[in-house]
Amino acid sequence: ATPMSIMVATGRGAHEGVLVRNAEALETLEKVDTLVVDKTGTLTEGKPRVTEVIAAEGVSEGDLLRAVASLERASEHPLAAAIVAGAEGRGVALGAVKEFVSVTGKGVTGVIDGWCVAVGNVALMREERVDASAMAQRAEALRRDGRTVMLVAIDGKAAGLIAVADPVKGSSPEVIDALRKSGLRVMMVTGDNRTTAAAVAEKLGIEFEAEVSPEGKAEVVRRLQKEGKIVAMAGDGVNDAPALAAAQVGIAMGTGTDVAMAAGGITLVSGDLRGLLRARRLSEKTMKNIR
Ligand code: ADP
Ligand code: MG
Repeated sequence: ATPMSIMVATGRGAHEGVLVRNAEALETLEKVDTLVVDKTGTLTEGKPRVTEVIAAEGVSEGDLLRAVASLERASEHPLAAAIVAGAEGRGVALGAVKEFVSVTGKGVTGVIDGWCVAVGNVALMREERVDASAMAQRAEALRRDGRTVMLVAIDGKAAGLIAVADPVKGSSPEVIDALRKSGLRVMMVTGDNRTTAAAVAEKLGIEFEAEVSPEGKAEVVRRLQKEGKIVAMAGDGVNDAPALAAAQVGIAMGTGTDVAMAAGGITLVSGDLRGLLRARRLSEKTMKNIR
């Protein structure tokens, strides 16, 4: 496209909440045949709410929440915000964290009140050599209801779990439908657990890959590209940045992290996937004008 037509499209896009950072992304979008899309914060609200707090024997719910929420206050993950809000809503006072470490796609660790605390998924527990088998059944039952379950370890021992519900965005089903009708293959990739992911994917009627690491998401994109697909990736998190950068068109949610927005060529300001339909129409129009 000419610089002029791109400029016009960029201006029009900005008006409609589609920020074009990279002209090539806009030019390519109309040719995209495969959309890889993140779950948490992209297809779902990304505003999860704590629904269950289950403390292991000998651990009080208050202590569990204090430890976990104090730690999560230092994280920018949407799950972290849910836990902090859940703890505050239950009147739990938070403490200071030392040695905070964020393990992207797995969880967080740190020291609170002299306790070593780890909060995250099964992979994190494995990494921390925590035997979480006593919580496995309850966790799995919650996942079948679509909950995301975070396991908690204190000083290397399973201390409980916290479950959150993150509803699918109201606009997601219709957007997925419209994208499909326009000939796109839509595929959800998520770092979340397989059972939870299946519950969400089933609601939307889409294919999915679960328990995918941030680098794994980029590999999914590259694999599809090797098959000759022209791939767009939509995501919001730090964990999506490698895939956003690998895709021909990276689409970041404006409600997400700065890292994601820096990695994407297009930002949907309101974080609404309907913006993707607008962006695609904009791309079609722009390219048609010059042909
Ligand atoms: P998604 O791909 O769905 O956006 P992520 O890759 O960001 O998910 O995270 C994958 C999983 O890692 C989460 O489902 C959660 O179990 C765990 N996790 C990531 N960050 C955190 C955190 N700050 N606190 C607890 N668990 C986390
Ligand atoms: Mg996400």
